[in-house]
Amino acid sequence: LPTAFQQARPIIETIEAAGYEAYFVGGGVRDTILGKPLHDVDIATSAFPAEVKGLFKRTVDTGIEHGTVMILDHGTGYETTTFRTESGYQDYRRPDKVTFVRSLKEDLKRRDFTINALAMRANGEVIDLFDGLADLKAGVLRAVGVAEDRFHEDALRMMRAVRFASQLDFTIEPQTQQAITDNAALLTKIAVERTRVEWEKLLMGQQPQRGLQALLDTALYRYMPQMADQQAMLQRLIDLPAWQLPTIESTWTLLAWLMDLPNQAAIRHLLKAWKTSNDLIDHVSAAWLVVSSLKQRGQLTPSELFSAGAAALKTANTVANLLGFGQPQAELTAAYAALPIQDKHELAINGGDLLRQQLTTPGPQMGQILAQLLHAVVIGQVKNESADLLDLARMIADTKND
Ligand code: ATP
Ligand code: MG
Repeated sequence: LPTAFQQARPIIETIEAAGYEAYFVGGGVRDTILGKPLHDVDIATSAFPAEVKGLFKRTVDTGIEHGTVMILDHGTGYETTTFRTESGYQDYRRPDKVTFVRSLKEDLKRRDFTINALAMRANGEVIDLFDGLADLKAGVLRAVGVAEDRFHEDALRMMRAVRFASQLDFTIEPQTQQAITDNAALLTKIAVERTRVEWEKLLMGQQPQRGLQALLDTALYRYMPQMADQQAMLQRLIDLPAWQLPTIESTWTLLAWLMDLPNQAAIRHLLKAWKTSNDLIDHVSAAWLVVSSLKQRGQLTPSELFSAGAAALKTANTVANLLGFGQPQAELTAAYAALPIQDKHELAINGGDLLRQQLTTPGPQMGQILAQLLHAVVIGQVKNESADLLDLARMIADTKND
């Protein structure tokens, strides 16, 4: 057993000592059997939430209405969920109703894929009611039960299938894949944020090209935000030599680049549709601009280096290297470090100084002068010293006032 499970054993044993059943379930079991590091320890139990809470000193109601209680033990939180069935998926997403049950089998039946429907006892013994072990061994994603029904219940499972194909380098079993093809349009019922989580996990997985191929084969991509007409872009991602990118920023930058978007506004529009954070939007549009300079000229001006900033430069160069027109990362880092300043706050004078010298008045003109000073410093036209900058500011102000 991995350490994380070892440490959680007393939790299961405490529940069992009180006469209930408890097992490790979900991705933790799957990843342990695959010999991969696990992210989270999930426990399923026949004890009802109130019964679980009665057994431990410190618990938090993290999702009590669907049966989840977090047990706090030596600084670690263990999500413990009562066996449950789900019913009435009227909207192709969440169940209308969850019912707590005492049967492990009923609980495992509602899970998405056979490899995610394994349970493990505290002693490491695996309970395999849906032939998940064979699928795990064969590298196959197979819906539990009738695939068609399962994607009707919850359309997010289709995204989870392609995501796991990438993360685990698994194939999707033919009937499961056919059911995704037939039901792909239901993806539009799912909140964009939830689709994005799976999409980003796919792109960051160990075999993104495999997940992308599954997206193409099933046409599921057509129902993802802003992707309906992106078949060619997806094919380009698949046709690249095997790739894996280190950050979500670099992944979106690669995507945006291969979409042949006309400008940064188009990137903003794309990422807004995916409801990403504003930080990510800023980072990706800055990186995209750098990629296009590298593509056109193979190098960057001081001004381009400065406006991009260290983080976006790194992202852009990683992407450009993947596409075959990047620079050695160390060279770019050195060029950036050699700039007279790296941040606009390092400018030796500020708006207050300009006002005190009566070189301008508060308002847009002040901003313009500061921007020109900054540019002059970055390109090495003037030293970043207050006397030099004030002289230059005076010249700029004079020409403006003429
Ligand atoms: P990860 O390693 O990304 O956490 P995971 O399989 O643990 O993968 P979770 O979202 O943490 O995924 O879910 C835990 C378990 O809950 C899954 O293994 C699966 O058994 C079940 N599950 C999660 N989402 C769904 C769903 N949409 N439909 C059916 N079962 C699900
Ligand atoms: Mg998990």
